[in-house]
Amino acid sequence: MIDDASLASENEFLPAMPDDVNLRALYADLTEKTALLQTTLGSISQGILMIGVDGRVNTYNKKVCELLDLPESALMLRPTLQELTLFQLNRGDFGPDACLVEPGARHYVRAVSNGEVPGDYLKAMKTGPASYLRTTRAGRVLEVKTQNLPSGGMVRTFADVTDYVQAEQARARLHMLLEATQSMARVGGWEVDTVNDRVFWTDEVYRMLDTSPQEYTPTTATTGHFFAPESVPKVNAAIKYLMDQGKPHDLELEMITATGRRIWVHTKAMVTHEQGQVVKRTSVLQDITERKLADAELRETEARWKLALDSTGDGVWDWNIASGVEIFSTRFLEMYGFEESEITNRVEEFDARTHPDDREQLQKDRQAHLAGLTPTYINEHRIQCKDGSWKWILSRGMVISRDAQGKPLRMIGTHTDITSRKHSEALVWQQANFDALTGLPNRRMLRDRLEQDIKKSRRESLQLAILFIDLDHFKEVNDTLGHNKGDLLLIEAARRIRACVRESDTVARMGGDEFTVVLPELPDAGSLERIIQGILSAMGALFQLDNEQVFVSASIGITMYPEDATEVESLFKNADQALYVAKAAGRNRFSFFTPALQHAAQTRVRLTGDLRTGLAQAQFLLVYQPIVELRTGAIYKAEALIRWLHPTHGLISPAVFIPIAETSGLITEIGNWVFLNVASQAKDWRKSLHPNFQISINKSPVQFHRDGATCKQWLDHLQALGLPGAGIAVEITEGLLLDANLGVSPQLRELHDAGIQVSLDDFGTGYSSLSYLQKFEIDYIKIDQSFVRHLIPGSTNLALCKAIIVMAHELGMKVIAEGIETPGQRDLLAAAGCDFGQGYLFARPMPAKDFEAFMAQRTH
Ligand code: C2E
Ligand code: MG
Ligand code: MG
Repeated sequence: MIDDASLASENEFLPAMPDDVNLRALYADLTEKTALLQTTLGSISQGILMIGVDGRVNTYNKKVCELLDLPESALMLRPTLQELTLFQLNRGDFGPDACLVEPGARHYVRAVSNGEVPGDYLKAMKTGPASYLRTTRAGRVLEVKTQNLPSGGMVRTFADVTDYVQAEQARARLHMLLEATQSMARVGGWEVDTVNDRVFWTDEVYRMLDTSPQEYTPTTATTGHFFAPESVPKVNAAIKYLMDQGKPHDLELEMITATGRRIWVHTKAMVTHEQGQVVKRTSVLQDITERKLADAELRETEARWKLALDSTGDGVWDWNIASGVEIFSTRFLEMYGFEESEITNRVEEFDARTHPDDREQLQKDRQAHLAGLTPTYINEHRIQCKDGSWKWILSRGMVISRDAQGKPLRMIGTHTDITSRKHSEALVWQQANFDALTGLPNRRMLRDRLEQDIKKSRRESLQLAILFIDLDHFKEVNDTLGHNKGDLLLIEAARRIRACVRESDTVARMGGDEFTVVLPELPDAGSLERIIQGILSAMGALFQLDNEQVFVSASIGITMYPEDATEVESLFKNADQALYVAKAAGRNRFSFFTPALQHAAQTRVRLTGDLRTGLAQAQFLLVYQPIVELRTGAIYKAEALIRWLHPTHGLISPAVFIPIAETSGLITEIGNWVFLNVASQAKDWRKSLHPNFQISINKSPVQFHRDGATCKQWLDHLQALGLPGAGIAVEITEGLLLDANLGVSPQLRELHDAGIQVSLDDFGTGYSSLSYLQKFEIDYIKIDQSFVRHLIPGSTNLALCKAIIVMAHELGMKVIAEGIETPGQRDLLAAAGCDFGQGYLFARPMPAKDFEAFMAQRTH
């Protein structure tokens, strides 16, 4: 063993000290050298083992014991190499099957330990590997080197290379990792050693450029060929900038590979300085060809859909949300009359041109979509064009990209010009909600507004009035002066009503000559009265219709919310009932709805039902009132008046039930029933009382309207009965004659031709003038009892009666005075030349039996 400072077996190494002086000197020299060797061997970090020519260990150092984990005693015995190797093998130093030894040396180790090395094993040993690695059981890596000595022995050294191997392995692994990641990321490294003018590429750069280290060695003189011609100036400029200013660059370039393929790379470069000098330029290259192609394709498809959208006539916008830049298609700009140069590519530009009333909703809709609450963005708004005009547009869009946090990045969409649609919608809305003639809200709009007003009144505990206004005698104007004048009258009436109310009040036209006024937030009852009086007087004032002057008036029905009712329907019904009352009370007046009115209305409804059963159950009867010839006192005429003996209400006046029969349509059946009875009565009385006896019946205007055919039936019936037409007279009212449209005139002529006479009832209460009557076949005028009632000598009424009588006679008509209750009235009328009289003075209306008795008594 070689100790730190001395040779373990001097004798082995050195011969005994010679006696010769020369030899002594030589010996001393040798001793000194040996000591030097000893020191050297002891101090080196490698383990050393020397095998002598006899194949045995003859020298070793302490380090070898440590590295091979051998006891010194084992080596001191100078084992042969085979013995030592076998010991190690058995101890497991080489692992099972020598697996801890580098594969190339395993066979050798096994051969040595097995003694397979033949006799001259020293020679055999020489054939062993000069160097190999093996791992100890402790996990250290030993490099084993063997050198043959010229003298025949050999030196074997053992070095602990664990740290180096590990570092090397780590380096190799890192290198592989770098290569792998670069290859995966398609990123390559490119370094230019600017001092030595050399270029280094990583594998990925070779791959990117379709070449390999074997095929090509990059040099500063040749790498430029890999750049596409159009990229060269860019690269050169960037490099110059980088070298001069030291500023890193970041470029996208087109390159041409060794095989001629065009690729796109993204490159970033920086320089490294040493002592103020640029020593190298390092770049990373990334192959971005795929992305570039995809981009190009995307741009192409975008261009295509933009073109497609443009061709539909829609404008296209493309908004980069982060930058606020918005790109508009040509069609988009055209829509608003702009040239591309006249408008900036900013989203605010068009937001500012949005109609102020529409901005809030637009922002709301847009935010909702940006926040991901709606699948698409849709908004209709107005935009001001270059010329200042407004266009309605439908904007539709969609966010097409968001970042990882969901923040919207880009949104695209279209603008469709919907101006004409909006206009027609507005027109349709106008038509649906407003009256075309007067421009007032119609029934539908009124209902909407009233509902709103009611809600508000309820919330604020306010009163609200609803007025139903009906023009009196509008029909007459329309029929006599024509529809054009009628329209003018309605327009003017609408204007006047509007002028009587506040801006916030609603005036609506319900159709025909009916108007409705809603007066919400009424401060006090007095203001309501003032408005009503205002409307009445405005309606009563002269209407100048072109060259015609007309007077009409208005009847108004009023109901109050919430006293009378709280629902729209009920309020309308109330106002209608009140209006009915105002009309019935003589028109040109107003009437408030009251519970009594409601009661009356309910009665009307009930009576309508009762009328039907009344007819079926023969609850009607006829009474007759004589008509006296004033000059002689003779009676050969009577008026038939209907009575209804209601099973619970008793006798009901025709003044009550005839209007109900008229509105329900039952009047036709009732009228026919009257006619049939009167016809047979007249036939009887022609026999029993007077050969020319005539009974008059009242015929409602509705009977003329409803069924022109009844006239023919009546005449047929008379014929069948054998009663001449003169046995019957028909009493009509003035209003009927004004209904020029209803074909009343031919019906009257038909009656007249059949011998049936016609009386004009209640004369003086209506509007027709005597001269107007000329046109019709009228035989008798019945002066209304309102004239007769106050008839005293010298009165206006008497003057009127006289005038009527004179004129009627002039026109070939006879006159009957109604309601004569006193002899005085009778005498005045007789003196005025009145032909006939009727009234309580002579007799009340009475059943047929009584009438006959009355007549019989007179003759006796
Ligand atoms: P009218 O045709 O003008 O009938 C005359 C009305 O005056 C009758 O009322 C009659 O009873 C009443 N009267 C007659 N003499 C006097 C008098 O001296 N003083 C007063 N204060 N009144 C007198 P009545 O029977 O109640 O009939 C009312 C109205 O009902 C009639 O007015 C007529 O328009 C209508 N009416 C009656 N019967 C029928 C009918 O069968 N068919 C139709 N369509 N209407 C009828
Ligand atoms: Mg009558
Ligand atoms: Mg009358």
